[in-house]
This record gives sequence, structure tokens and C-alpha cells, in this order.
Amino acid sequence: MVEELRTTVGIVGAGPAGLMLAHLLHTAGIDSVVVDNRDRDTIAHTHRAGILEQGSVELLTRTGAVSRAHTEGHQHEGTVFRVDGVDHRIDFQGLVGASVWLYPQNEVFVDLAKTRDADGGAVFYGVSDTQPGGFDTDRPTIDFTDADGTARRIICDWIVGADGSRSVCRTTVPETTRQRYAHQYPFAWFGILCEAPPSAPELIYARSERGFALVSQRSDTVQRMYFQCSPDEDPDDWSEDRIWSELQARVDGPDGYRLTTGTIFDKTVLPFRSYVTEPMRHGRLLLAGDAAHTVPPTGAKGLNLALQDVRVLFEALRDAVTRGDESGIDGYSDRALARVWKAQNFSSWMTSLLHLDPQASDFEFRRRQGELRGLLESAHGRAYLAEAYTGWPGESTLTI
Ligand SMILES: Cc1cc2nc3c(=O)[nH]c(=O)nc-3n(C[C@H](O)[C@H](O)[C@H](O)COP(=O)(O)OP(=O)(O)OC[C@H]3O[C@@H](n4cnc5c(N)ncnc54)[C@H](O)[C@@H]3O)c2cc1C
Repeated sequence: MVEELRTTVGIVGAGPAGLMLAHLLHTAGIDSVVVDNRDRDTIAHTHRAGILEQGSVELLTRTGAVSRAHTEGHQHEGTVFRVDGVDHRIDFQGLVGASVWLYPQNEVFVDLAKTRDADGGAVFYGVSDTQPGGFDTDRPTIDFTDADGTARRIICDWIVGADGSRSVCRTTVPETTRQRYAHQYPFAWFGILCEAPPSAPELIYARSERGFALVSQRSDTVQRMYFQCSPDEDPDDWSEDRIWSELQARVDGPDGYRLTTGTIFDKTVLPFRSYVTEPMRHGRLLLAGDAAHTVPPTGAKGLNLALQDVRVLFEALRDAVTRGDESGIDGYSDRALARVWKAQNFSSWMTSLLHLDPQASDFEFRRRQGELRGLLESAHGRAYLAEAYTGWPGESTLTI
């Protein structure tokens, strides 16, 4: 026996893309049902993105989706590029009049989930066997088993695949009808979470002869740091002492800067890749966020791109559902991809600029040093970086 649910938009994935879309649809009086195969507590405790572009914070707060970004998050008016132990500050406010906000993705989730609760939104966490289908019909479906073991079917007008980089929605589309663009990097990030006060008021992107490191924050008592490593590095081979001495070596400099150390309670190796699937629409299936594209985390673009997709997609769905105007749906893929490819370029460029490629020639190593120096010595170069990092103006005309 299968329990049937009827809704306008069926959404696979309760990450930032899926929940934010459900929230925006609700504000326009459009109902949706969201399913996610992780339980709520697991999502709330998964540490991923930390940096929100100014436009993302405005979207999340002005629509009432997120309540604590301004009170519990931290505004960063700039960032530091530390090259061979010497700081070069990129003054976002001075260069482009914008900021980013440090407000962790798991807190964004907690706020979004509470907002869905308060609005009576239907979200099924901890589901299994998700199977979307019928994209080429006018009644697509999402089959799943809920957390209590009940087999259910969502019957809807549109399916949104917001189910992250291993998207089942994307892989359900025949490979012959989609184009895949991918790039693999010869390095990864060794990421740690530690109990310590912040080592710096803003993010520090460090490049040294030992490779890249990122000094980042989470809260007043928990910090996030990364250093470049080999993709096959085993976290268990790294003791706390070894991790701290490697991180310190990558930020050492004549100013005597020292990291504030503390107990490490999480260590992970994060492989890098750039990936885009085109188009982002297949009949009545629309892909959004990491389900359609992933970027290396260096430029802090993934979550922000997911929110930008949703902004464009919301307008398209609203016009289709409330006015029968599907021109926005027809144009969704091209509009979203315009920003996706700008962000792909920025993320890939920033990654190559700051990491040491183990396969690069001596010429390439020196050329990169020259590129970085040229960028940091040029006000125009720093302004390009500041504009891209804080976020370009949106493709959406959505008024918030
Ligand atoms: C270490 C790290 C650091 C990062 N730092 C930044 C940063 O500073 N700034 C930034 O903008 N981005 C950053 N990102 C990227 C960011 O985390 C992602 O781009 C973002 O999570 C994308 O959101 P999403 O909603 O598209 O996908 P996700 O957050 O991946 O959500 C997808 C959801 O779908 C669910 N799902 C998957 N398969 C199924 C299924 N079969 N059935 C039902 N549900 C399913 C998953 O459980 C998940 O909850 C970082 C990523 C990592 C890994």
C-alpha cells in the first residue's frame, strides 16, 4: 500500500537549496513537499560552508527564512592573503562597498528548518529509496519510504532536484540528454574543527612554499582550519601535534604570527573537483545547487550559488504556477548557468593561484608567484577579487 501525497512542487533535498526554495514558494502561496534521506539532527551537525555573500544574507534574512545571521554571525569587511608569511589585506568595503558574513551552513539549516516548522511546511527527514520519475509527463512523481517505513508517493507538477553532489535526480536523467563538464585537482584539503578562540578576526588565505592553508572561524569557541594535502592522505596518520605544526609552518612569517591552538575534535580530507551538468532542466525536473554544479571550496561559492539558483528558480516556478507563464522555466537553465560559470572560473582560478600543484614545472611555480604579486599590488586586481568574493549582482530581479 503506497500513501499518495499531492503537491505543486516536490523537492528532493533539505539542504539550503531545497529548504530555501520551499520557503520562498510558501511566501507566494505555493505548496511543496520536501524529502531528505538524512535525519534532521545529522544535517544540523554537518559542518560545511561558512561564508555567505552579502546578497545571500539579504535573501535569507529579508524573506524571514533565517533569523540569527546578523546577531550571531560575523560581518567580515575584508580578508587577508598571507603570502610567504606577509599579510596583504583585501579591503572588501573600501574596494567594492560590500562584506561577507561568517554564518555556518548548519546554522542556516537550523533556521530554515524552524521556519518551515512555523509555516507548517511538509518536510520528511530520514527517508530512503528516493526515486523520482515521470519528468516527461505532466504528473511527475517522487517515490520514497519515510522514516517510519511507510511507502509514499508524491504526485506533483514540478520536481526540483536539490539533492546535492551525488544527486539521484540528476542520475535519473539519461546520460545522452545531458552534458557533463568536470575537472579534478591533484590536491585536497585537510580540514579540522577545534575548540579554541579565533586565531584572526577575518579569514586568512595563506600560500607558502609548503602549500596552501586557510585560517577560518566558526564561533567564539570553535574554529575551522584547512591545509592543502594529497587526496589520498589518511586523517588517522595525523596526530594533533603534527597537524598544528604543519598549519603553523604554513603561516609562519617575520611578524611572528602564531595560531591559537586547541583540542581538535574533527579531521577530514576533502577532495576537490569542479563539475557542471547542463542543462539544469529536463522536462518537469529542475536541478538546483550542488545537484547541478560543484566548485572547489576555495572561493566560498557553493552555498551562495545554490541560493542564487533558488532565487531564479523561485521566480520561474511562481510565474508558471500562478500565471501559467513558463518562459521563466524555459530560461532557468541559461540564467542560472551564467552565474555558475562565472563562479566556476573564480573558484578554479583562486584555487590554482593559492595552491601548489605537485605536477607543475618550476616555470609554472614562478609564474604563479608573479601572478599573485601582480594581483595584490594592483588596486584593480584586488577590486576584482573583492567583487567576485563578496558576490556579483544577481541574475534575478526578485525584490526582497
Ligand atoms: C568543507 C566545505 C566547505 C565549504 N565552504 C563553503 C563556503 O564557505 N561557502 C559556500 O558558499 N559554500 C561552501 N561549501 C559548499 C556548500 O556546502 C554546498 O555548495 C552546499 O551545501 C550546496 O547546497 P545544496 O542545498 O545544493 O546541497 P546539499 O547541502 O548537499 O543538500 C542536499 C541534500 O539532499 C539530500 N539528499 C541527497 N541524496 C538524497 C536522496 N537520494 N534522497 C533524499 N535526499 C537526498 C542530502 O542529505 C542533503 O541534505 C563548502 C563545502 C564543503 C564540503
